[in-house]
Amino acid sequence: MTPDAGVGDWSTSDPTHKPRSIDPVDMEGASEWGKAPESGRGRASYHPGMARTSDLPDHVRAIVDEIETEIGDVPRQAETLIEGAGRHAGNGRVEAAVHEILVEIGEDPERQGLQGTPERVHRMYTELTAGYHVDPERLINGAIFDVGYSEMVVVKDIPFYSLCEHHLLPFFGQAAVAYIPRGRVIGLSKIPRIVEMYSRRLQVQERLTQQIAEFLSERLEPQGVGVVLEATHLCAVMRGVRKPGTIMTTSAVLGLFRTRDRTRAEFFAHLARPSSGA
Ligand SMILES: [Zn+2]
Repeated sequence: MTPDAGVGDWSTSDPTHKPRSIDPVDMEGASEWGKAPESGRGRASYHPGMARTSDLPDHVRAIVDEIETEIGDVPRQAETLIEGAGRHAGNGRVEAAVHEILVEIGEDPERQGLQGTPERVHRMYTELTAGYHVDPERLINGAIFDVGYSEMVVVKDIPFYSLCEHHLLPFFGQAAVAYIPRGRVIGLSKIPRIVEMYSRRLQVQERLTQQIAEFLSERLEPQGVGVVLEATHLCAVMRGVRKPGTIMTTSAVLGLFRTRDRTRAEFFAHLARPSSGA
């Protein structure tokens, strides 16, 4: 494992997901879908192959706004949300493709239960990938504060839902995010939104973990960042190994979390402790 890989100490009980070092080539190649916007550098740039963010259908726009804005803020396109009701960025190609899948698997796309399925699947995928359209500047907006605090900040039990890019099946679980500030802290409510911005995309768990860590590292320039994700992958539990309960754990540690054993141990001790109310 290279020292700058930013991912380490991850393990799994799933024999199909043997612990291994992250191959940077693999990380790049793992995201061929329309040329992924980043190679793990934490950038949240828009997806070039996608509909422009201004053309988003309303239900996706609403999700993006929810991730970007604080309660009480005025969403970016409140006016278009009203005026543009029914607007849909689709051209029917996804619907046609889903229709084709239904035929290919031997189904009758015209039977009652399936008639609306192509359209529903299209809507669903645009919602589940709305994270491509979140503007990180708006998400962060005004929520980074100069504070002289320099102890570890830990936010854990953050639920997330993502789509495995190899099978387009969900993987989901909980994230724990920690950092040690260097004079700057971020509003706590922003951390789950950062997780959501990256999880509402086609992902591999390793890259998702690293992107969250690198985003915080770039924006806060903290003394260190640690991120741990635990997830169940439906592609593993529904097919192949069929081992319900298999959980994959990934971690990314930067700065002091990487270089100082004591810091890493403190982080993992936080994770081992049951949450209050649990
Ligand atoms: Zn998969």
